[in-house]
Amino acid sequence: MKTRILLIYTGGTIGMAKDYTSDSLKPFDFENLIKHIPELSLIDSGISFTGFETPIDSSDMNPSHWVLLAEMIENNYNQYDGFVILHGTDTMAYSASALSFMLNGLQKPVIFTGSQLPVGDLRTDAKENLITSIHFASLQENGKPSVREVCIYFEYRLLRANRTTKISAENFDAFASPDYPDLGESGIHLDVRKHVLRIEDESVPFSINTNLNTDLGLMKIFPGMSREFIENMFASQTMKAMIIEAFGSGNIFSLDWFKDLLRKKASEGLLFIINTQCAGGMVEIGRYETSGIFREIGAINGFDLTTEASIAKTIHLLGQNLTQEEFKKLYETDLRGELTYLKQY
Ligand code: ASP
Repeated sequence: MKTRILLIYTGGTIGMAKDYTSDSLKPFDFENLIKHIPELSLIDSGISFTGFETPIDSSDMNPSHWVLLAEMIENNYNQYDGFVILHGTDTMAYSASALSFMLNGLQKPVIFTGSQLPVGDLRTDAKENLITSIHFASLQENGKPSVREVCIYFEYRLLRANRTTKISAENFDAFASPDYPDLGESGIHLDVRKHVLRIEDESVPFSINTNLNTDLGLMKIFPGMSREFIENMFASQTMKAMIIEAFGSGNIFSLDWFKDLLRKKASEGLLFIINTQCAGGMVEIGRYETSGIFREIGAINGFDLTTEASIAKTIHLLGQNLTQEEFKKLYETDLRGELTYLKQY
């Protein structure tokens, strides 16, 4: 029996065309997109199409769009064997990471893809990305989908969504998964690396979790940050969690006024999540004296989370009405293959 794939079009460069009045690229409708890919009719899967009423540049994506996507998957979950989501590359890693947390008990592939050049461009990367994503989503073994997690497919590589980050605004090879191996590769054959794929417990029924909360902040630190700027970053009364992108293995400057500010905010109930600015390796709170303050205030270890996965996980967990202890415990737990543990000091 043919596999059935649902293609969900949200916008992004893949379906854009030049608007000659403004001289910039704008998302186009879906008909325009498929008109440029007649090869779709050659694929041996039953493909259906749906998408956003108005396609958008992914810079305009926000959690309400993530909810829309989760609902589209939920409403069609039983009718299809896999889902391919066409999305702009700019925030693809955020949306894909978010979906990985919002879909519970996923037993089917959800593959995000897009392109660096519009589908109508002579040198476009859109066709290969779209067609191979559909092929990966159609792969089956013993009547079950081979891939059963949220992924990004781009330029011959299948990557775990919540391990992926956009690294190039120029190259076709635009995404990297710095801390987790590729899940698959497209060459003459489609190679799926079974040993690194995620296996969800089959007894967990599929459901979606659409409670999200965006009362969070993100602070990337740098040498010489001014006190005024930092204090302003912490001025919000509604903020519930602050993600700090610290140096190296989770280190930060040792200024007394700054440590006092962290102590005060933590005692008022602000959650602190510590990530690293490095693309490889992970946070080890307490390894250096310069991360001692984080241990003192009970900060949460982000291990090797990407910024995108960290934001998505925070928005997801803040929406679950957890106590501080529950939040910390779940945040430091590998929920969807998004983090690697290391001993804590
Ligand atoms: N600005 C575009 C978007 O993210 C870029 C792309 O799709 O590559 O929608």
